[in-house]
Amino acid sequence: MSYDINGRRPDARAGERFEHRGNWETIVNCVRRLVPAETHAYENWHFNNGDGLDAELSIALADRLERCLAEGVVESYVAERDAYLAQHPRRECHVCDGTGIRCDEAGRKAGYPDRIVADEPKGNPRAGKVGWCDRCDGWGTLKEYGSYRDLYVSDVREFIEFLRHSGGFAIW
Ligand SMILES: [Zn+2]
Repeated sequence: MSYDINGRRPDARAGERFEHRGNWETIVNCVRRLVPAETHAYENWHFNNGDGLDAELSIALADRLERCLAEGVVESYVAERDAYLAQHPRRECHVCDGTGIRCDEAGRKAGYPDRIVADEPKGNPRAGKVGWCDRCDGWGTLKEYGSYRDLYVSDVREFIEFLRHSGGFAIW
């Protein structure tokens, strides 16, 4: 399911639209876990039927999440989630045949075999090595957990910003 999260009466650009980069469900799961009281009454988080929170609830939720951020609760949630997902095995990348270097025609044209693997985000076992693959970011392997999306503390921070300026929002 795809989701467009639009502000009802935005008073700033940040409140017009929430750019969740495909991880809306991940963010919602995080938010509902961290602030059950403020999110419990509303049940349609995972439906794109134009429903959503009104302005008052959006601000209340923003305030509550802000406190979670300050207390480091968001950070621990993300860290625990990452640690859990890291236990999943990785599978070989079919685009570079597990080498981390994309040498097919498209890859050669784009200069990937000469590209140096970046050290960001951290943890890439081939960081600093020559030769890159756009499918696996030069790892040679891919995360196995297909539908899981990355979640960063900054996602929650951006959501708070959106809540504050959205004037309530609708999920489409
Ligand atoms: Zn690859």
